[in-house]
Amino acid sequence: MPFRDIAGHRRLLDLLARSIERNTLPPSLIFEGPSGAGKRATAIAVAQALNCVRNKAQNEALRTESAESRLDACGTCASCTKIARGVHPDVLIVEPGDTGTIKIEHVRDVVDRAAYRPFEGRRRVVIVDQADALVTAAQNALLKTLEEPPSSSIFILVTSRPDMLLATVRSRCIRLRFAEGVKEEIDEEAREVAERVLAQAARGDDPGRRLESAKDLLTNTGAGGAEDREQLASHLRAMGSLLRDVEVLATRADERALANPDVRPALERLTQTYAGERGVRAFTAIDQALMALDRNAGVKVVADWLVLQL
Ligand SMILES: [Zn+2]
Repeated sequence: MPFRDIAGHRRLLDLLARSIERNTLPPSLIFEGPSGAGKRATAIAVAQALNCVRNKAQNEALRTESAESRLDACGTCASCTKIARGVHPDVLIVEPGDTGTIKIEHVRDVVDRAAYRPFEGRRRVVIVDQADALVTAAQNALLKTLEEPPSSSIFILVTSRPDMLLATVRSRCIRLRFAEGVKEEIDEEAREVAERVLAQAARGDDPGRRLESAKDLLTNTGAGGAEDREQLASHLRAMGSLLRDVEVLATRADERALANPDVRPALERLTQTYAGERGVRAFTAIDQALMALDRNAGVKVVADWLVLQL
C-alpha cells in the first residue's frame, strides 16, 4: 500500500518520502507506536517507494509541476505488486514463528542475504515485524548489521514495545514514533462528507445529481489552491476508510479492525451497496483520485470524475 493510502501520520510519511527522494533515508530504523497505527503498512510503503519501477520517471515529471508533490510508489507495477504480496526477492519480512519468538537462525539468514546486491530492485529492505519478539541472541546477532548495514540494504524494526529491544539495538537505529492511532486522526467533518457522498451515489441518482454531490467534496475555497487539494484528499481518505470498514463488515472479519466503529449504522447501510465488487471498484477509483491529486490534477476535475465512479 503506497504512502497516499495510509491514514494519518502525514508529517512522518512526508519525512520518509523526502528522505527516499534525496537518498538520505537512514539504513537502520525503528518504527514504534501502538498496534494498528500503520507501522507495518508504512514499512511496506517504504519498500515500494524504494523499488517501484515507475515512480522514478513519474516523479521527475512531477517535480517540474509542483514542489509539493511527494515521492510515492505507483502501487500497481510488477515490483509494487510483488512487495504487497510478500514475494519480492529483495523485500524480506521477518516475523515471529509458531513459538511467538524470532530466533537467531532466522536473523542470521536475513543478515547473510542482505550482504548481496539486490536481485531485482534498487534497494533491499528487511522488515522485522514485532521486533520485540527477537530473542536476545537474535538481537545481538543484528547489532553489527544495524551499525554498518550493507550499502544497498535498509533495516526496519517494527514494534509496539520498543522497551523490549536491547538498548544497544535502539541506539543504533533512528526511531520514528507513530504516536496517534488511526482512529483519533479521522476527521469527523471529512467523514460526514464522505458518508454523504457515498450514500448519494448508492441511491443510484443520475449523473447530474452526482456531479452536484461532487461540490460537497470541495466546499473550502473552490479556487483549486493547496487548501482545496488537502481538503479533497482528506475527504477521499475518509471515503477510503469507510469503504475498508464496509469490507470488514461484509467479510465478517474481526470487528476490532474497524476504523470507524462509532458510525456502525451508517457502515451497515453502505454495506448494502458497497460490499463486494462495487466497493473494490470505488476503492480503486479513490486511490486513483489521490494519485491524480499528487500529480497536481485539477481538484474539480478529480472530484467530478470520482463521483461518477462510485
Ligand atoms: Zn510501482
